[in-house]
Amino acid sequence: MALSQFMKLAARPACRALSSKAAPALDVSSTGPCFALTDEQREIVDLTKKFVREEIIPVAAHHDKTGEYPWAIIKKAWELGLTNSHIPADIGGTEMSIVTSCLVAEQFAYGCTGIMTAIEASGLGQTPVIIAGNKEQQKKYLGRLLEEPLVAAYCVTEPGAGSDVNGVRTRAEKKGDEYILNGQKMWITNGGVANWYFVLARTNPDPKCPASKAFTGFIVERDTPGLTPGRKEQNMGQRASDTRGITFEDVRVPKENVLVGEGAGFKIAMGTFDKTRPPVAAGAVGLAQRCLDEALKYSLERKAFGVPIAAHQAVSFMLADMAIGVETARLITMKSAWEVDQGRRNSYYASIAKCYASDIANKIATDAVQVFGGNGFNSEYPVEKLMRDAKIYQIYEGTSQIQRLIISRNMIDAAKQQA
Ligand SMILES: Cc1cc2nc3c(=O)[nH]c(=O)nc-3n(C[C@H](O)[C@H](O)[C@H](O)COP(=O)(O)OP(=O)(O)OC[C@H]3O[C@@H](n4cnc5c(N)ncnc54)[C@H](O)[C@@H]3O)c2cc1C
Repeated sequence: MALSQFMKLAARPACRALSSKAAPALDVSSTGPCFALTDEQREIVDLTKKFVREEIIPVAAHHDKTGEYPWAIIKKAWELGLTNSHIPADIGGTEMSIVTSCLVAEQFAYGCTGIMTAIEASGLGQTPVIIAGNKEQQKKYLGRLLEEPLVAAYCVTEPGAGSDVNGVRTRAEKKGDEYILNGQKMWITNGGVANWYFVLARTNPDPKCPASKAFTGFIVERDTPGLTPGRKEQNMGQRASDTRGITFEDVRVPKENVLVGEGAGFKIAMGTFDKTRPPVAAGAVGLAQRCLDEALKYSLERKAFGVPIAAHQAVSFMLADMAIGVETARLITMKSAWEVDQGRRNSYYASIAKCYASDIANKIATDAVQVFGGNGFNSEYPVEKLMRDAKIYQIYEGTSQIQRLIISRNMIDAAKQQA
């Protein structure tokens, strides 16, 4: 079937029906989740796989080399209903479960994690509005993303504050019915292309004020005077995505754009990660799966000492270890997604998934380069890009060290409660 015909068949309303919240996240038996995908999930995975094979894989190297933002792909994915997956059904969105959105994210990442990050970062920007926005805010800002292929961004990190979010210095001062924002953000994905941003700013200047009360979350329109994105950063990998600093100089934001209320921002910014870390982990799984597939294929073609290199046990065991890593990372990713879909706090599992999938994806990417030998070190072959792309998973949305901090704190707190 021609792609155009296929796209027509798989147009957005159908896709919405596939993925509405009514479909179970995973089949649930009395003993917990089972691993079978629903028919709807299988359909959406097949649709995404086909899209990735035909639209992303052929152009991934181009976007890596040029750093060109993948607007054409985002527009096509939007047409198919494969973006904005978390937007609630009452706003007109697909409201996919987090499990389903992980299935989609893994497929996108298999094609190109730079393109996956461009799409996923919009979800990151939207999630504060989904979890904390009132209906007017949701209709206006999430609805806009459904009407047109636009993207959002999540604007928290600053030059002096990444892991330590409490160190955010961007200030918001209330003047009449507006807040005036001044400060500098850094490393904002979609920073130069977003239509609107979620911005975290300090509203209580008292340094003794606890983080849980000191910050406020705002929705800020891109075209607000005084808001200036910086140059596109030249990153090691995921070059299709757009990372920038953003300057705020007397940026006036109406009080209607405050999420929940003054002081609620820190909780919103951190609570967002419970929903967005599983899809990020799924991205690392997709990259790891691609590494394994490329390495396996190459190991059967490349000969050394008269046999395919896969016949050397040192190589085949490397492939086996890669498979162990992919399968286990996928399992914990799905567990973390399933937990939040059940309405339970999943920070512990989301951190394990994000940390494990990121770390193992880096090991698997390094091993894939090893399987390719000298060719692996060369940009004519696919695994060099995969290794560069893998690194950021250990850094953004909380470094691997910060994930371990969250995991250990959760364990220690639970142990203390039981004592
Ligand atoms: C490509 C890219 C895209 C990004 N996209 C976004 C985005 O869309 N929105 C956004 O807001 N931010 C974004 N970020 C920012 C990202 O989340 C931060 O870079 C990350 O949280 C780390 O913060 P930092 O760079 O300030 O490093 P630092 O916090 O300075 O950390 C430096 C090192 O110290 C370690 N460390 C720090 N504190 C501790 C501790 N308590 N215990 C143990 N180790 C510690 C860290 O793990 C790290 O290894 C992005 C970053 C990059 C590079």
